[in-house]
Amino acid sequence: MIYCSNPSSHFKTYQSEIESSVLSVIRSDNYILGKEVLALEQHFANYIGVSCAIGVANGTDAIEIALKALEIGPGDEVITVSHTAVATVAAIESTGAKAVLVDIEPEFYTLDVSQLEEVFTNRTKAIIAVHIYGQSADLEFIDDFCKKKNIFLIEDVSQAHGAKFKGKHLGSIGKVGCFSCYPTKNLGAIGDAGLITTDDINLDKRIRMIREYGWENRISQIPGRNSRLDEIQAAILKVKLKYLDLDNQRRRELALKFSKSLTSLPLKLPKLRPEGQHVFHQFVVQVEHRKEFIDHLIKRGIHPGIHYPVPIHLQPAYNERISIASDMSITEKVAHKIISLPVYPGLTKKEINSIISAISDFF
Ligand SMILES: *Cc1c(COP(=O)(O)O)cnc(C)c1O
Repeated sequence: MIYCSNPSSHFKTYQSEIESSVLSVIRSDNYILGKEVLALEQHFANYIGVSCAIGVANGTDAIEIALKALEIGPGDEVITVSHTAVATVAAIESTGAKAVLVDIEPEFYTLDVSQLEEVFTNRTKAIIAVHIYGQSADLEFIDDFCKKKNIFLIEDVSQAHGAKFKGKHLGSIGKVGCFSCYPTKNLGAIGDAGLITTDDINLDKRIRMIREYGWENRISQIPGRNSRLDEIQAAILKVKLKYLDLDNQRRRELALKFSKSLTSLPLKLPKLRPEGQHVFHQFVVQVEHRKEFIDHLIKRGIHPGIHYPVPIHLQPAYNERISIASDMSITEKVAHKIISLPVYPGLTKKEINSIISAISDFF
C-alpha cells in the first residue's frame, strides 16, 4: 500500500540518530523549554535566515500567537485564501479577528493578488500568504501591497519548509513566518510542533511571552496561554532539520520524474513559479474524472490525497460568517479536480514506477 505521505518511513531513515536524541532527553532532567528547544530555535533561525525563531505547540498556534503578538484581534480583518488548511482560518478566528477570503491563481494555487484591492478595508490589518503545496505565493506583489497599505505580511509556511522566493527562504520575507511541524510536513515532528520566525526582536519577546501565560519573569504582563514546544519534539526536529535540504532535493527529483513520465497524459501537472524554488510538500495534479481515477489507483494499492476537497468558505462552520471576494470560481472549480499523488523522500524506485504505470494504465 502506498499512501500520500509516510512519516514512519522518514523516521526509519534516520532511526538511530532520532532514537538516541530522544533517549538523551528522557534521561535528562529537563522536559520543557530546555536546551533542545533553544538549540532548535537557533538552528532554525540560522537556516531560514532570520534573527529569531520560537518553538510553539503546533502550526495553528503559530499563526494565532503571531497575530496576537501583532495586536490583531476583535474588530480587525485578516485577508487570506479559502484554498488552504482550515487551520489558517481557525487561527485568525481564534484571535477574534475576521477572516476575509480571496480566490487563488489557476496556475500556482496561491493567493490571487488581483482581488486584494477589492477586499481591503480600513479594518484590514494583515495578509496571510499561504505557500501551498511547497511553493511560494506571489510574495513580491503581496509584500509591496502590504507596505503600501501599511499592514503586516504573515507567511503560512506550513507546507514549504526550505522553499525559496528570489533566493530567500520562505518565512524570512514577511513580518513573521509560521510553520507547522505536523508529522507529514517537510519538516515533521513525531507528534505536534510548530515554529515562528521573525527579524523583529520586540515581536520575538511578545511571542515568547504569549507562548507561556504572558509571563515575564513568571509574572503575567500580557494575556497569554500555554503553547510550549516540548524537548522531545525539539530534539527530533533538530535531527531532521539537518536533512531537510537533502529530503527536499529528493522530493524535487521525484516531482521531476513524475512530470516527465506523465507529460503526455490528460492531466494538469504542477507549474513552477520562475522566481521560486518548490519543495513539493504535495505533487498535485488535476483530472476530469476524479472519482474513477481514485478508484482505479486504490485498486492498484495507491491511496492519493485531496488537499482540499471543500473550500473553507463552503464548510459548515464558516460559510455563514466568512467574508469572501466576489469571484471564488477557481477555488471552487479546482476543489473537484485536484489529487495529491504520493511524493515523499522514502518512496522506492519500485513504488515510483508502480504509481506511474497505474496512472498511465488509467488513460
Ligand atoms: C498543516 C497546516 C497548518 C496547521 O498546522 P497544525 O500543526 O496542524 O496546527 C496551517 N496551515 C497550513 C497551510 C497547513 O498545511
